[in-house]
Amino acid sequence: MHNHEIFLLSEFDRRKFLQISGLVTGIGLLSSLAETSASAALPSAKLPGFSAFAKSVRVFKSDKYYLVESDGIPAHQMMIGIKSWQQQVPTVQPYSGTNAWSIPITPVIAANPMSAKDHFLRGAIALAVNGVPIFNALNNRGDDAFLAGELDNWGGHCGRADDYHYHVAPTHLQSVVGTKVPIAYALDGFPIYGEKEPDGKKVVELDSFNGHFDSKKNYHYHATKTYPYINGGFKGEVKEINGQVAPQALTKAFRPAGEPLRGAVITGLDRISADTFNLTYSLNGVDGHVKYTASLSQVSMEFTDTTGSTHTEVYARK
Ligand SMILES: [Zn+2]
Ligand SMILES: [Zn+2]
Repeated sequence: MHNHEIFLLSEFDRRKFLQISGLVTGIGLLSSLAETSASAALPSAKLPGFSAFAKSVRVFKSDKYYLVESDGIPAHQMMIGIKSWQQQVPTVQPYSGTNAWSIPITPVIAANPMSAKDHFLRGAIALAVNGVPIFNALNNRGDDAFLAGELDNWGGHCGRADDYHYHVAPTHLQSVVGTKVPIAYALDGFPIYGEKEPDGKKVVELDSFNGHFDSKKNYHYHATKTYPYINGGFKGEVKEINGQVAPQALTKAFRPAGEPLRGAVITGLDRISADTFNLTYSLNGVDGHVKYTASLSQVSMEFTDTTGSTHTEVYARK
């Protein structure tokens, strides 16, 4: 489980972006992001990997950053396989406008690279090319989320804001994008490739961050099947504020934190319509359900427990 606290950024690039995109300057912007898109003002950009998801993920270019917009919901199945569930579910997220993901256009090797073992235990450390954020392989209690059974068959689960994110490399994306382009970008700007080099060769001599330099002296990271799975820190310069990389897109919880449902295994998540899902879990051999409809402004949820008893909860998102 994650506490994705909100804090506001005063990054020059973002202020300028805000002005360019015609959004009223101020705070508490999350609620207005749904109607805001960067497309009107900033040039769109091509970043290898992302183009395979152009229908749902948009990339723009500002002065210092590629700005990536998505709703955080991947095209693949989610949640199935989770054995340690906090009763959070995937909902659309406002990763657009001033809350888009920021990836440095020109990564810079850091004088003092930081490890993800004792930094960045909150928030994202990378962004997959399908617009889904990737968090530290260690959850915010310092445990390996994969080994703890917290992750679904695609390496993801949901946080405190009912936000879907990965904790390991989404290597399954290679079946969509191929092996020649990155499957993700670390938030220092360096690309993350799969378990092989783009030319198909075996990966050798990774540093403790899962990275190395290529023959042209360009740095990149790789996915691995064991810790750190993704970038195990940042070889490049990043700013850490309150234990997370800044700037980054923010999420906001709309309901009280879910409790662990001990013994439950998630067995299905059917997408009934664009924003309506039915999650099925099994507890002691009996099915329970969470059927919910979520937009950026409202969520309604119907819980059916394993005794068949039902209750409904409705939340406004602001
Ligand atoms: Zn998580
Ligand atoms: Zn490599």
